[in-house]
Amino acid sequence: MRILLAEDDEFIARGLLLALEESGYFLDHVRSGSDADIAIATDVYDLLVLDLGLPVIDGLEVLKRLRSRQQTVPVLILTARDGIQDRVQGLDLGGNDYISKPFDLSELEARIRVLLRKQYWNNNTEITHGSIVFDTVSRRVKVNGEPLELSARELALLEIMLQRRGRVVTKRQLADHLSNWESVLTDNAIEILMHRLRKKLETTGFEVRTIRGLGYLVEKAV
Ligand code: CA
Repeated sequence: MRILLAEDDEFIARGLLLALEESGYFLDHVRSGSDADIAIATDVYDLLVLDLGLPVIDGLEVLKRLRSRQQTVPVLILTARDGIQDRVQGLDLGGNDYISKPFDLSELEARIRVLLRKQYWNNNTEITHGSIVFDTVSRRVKVNGEPLELSARELALLEIMLQRRGRVVTKRQLADHLSNWESVLTDNAIEILMHRLRKKLETTGFEVRTIRGLGYLVEKAV
């Protein structure tokens, strides 16, 4: 999952980037409202973490603009502790949740998981597909009750394919969700990654079909 972090406080941003990347998210970081506005309009994100006090244009304006473009990306707002008016306005402008500074990283991560779960998993915490169980909280996979070792990228790839069961997923879409500005996944890298994932899931009955010229497909019903 790819997250845009719009935060001008370097100390807070650095801590968030480290923690979220450690948790397997792909992060891009901007420091002004105008950069956030451009990034969210042009790149694909699964979530926006938005500080309201940003230079050039503020977070509320970023939010207003992205919702007026009909963008449905979930937005988690970062506010000052006493900013009740900001929180109300942020929620009314289409923000999905907020957390007040200073916040605890574990709570912020839990709130991110809630928003992503709502967006992609109908609020379910565990996703079952045949003999595979994907736990969206611990981000671990079990096959017939036994833990399966996957790399962070393999896990992220499996997550996307499970989210989009019954639909063809293009390499471009995979690259959009499994990259950030610093490291963009090439078509070739995606093919290698898919090969490794298939290999590890070989005995589980989990099948990713290649749809020539289009992309990959996991059938909906198992
Ligand atoms: Ca700020």
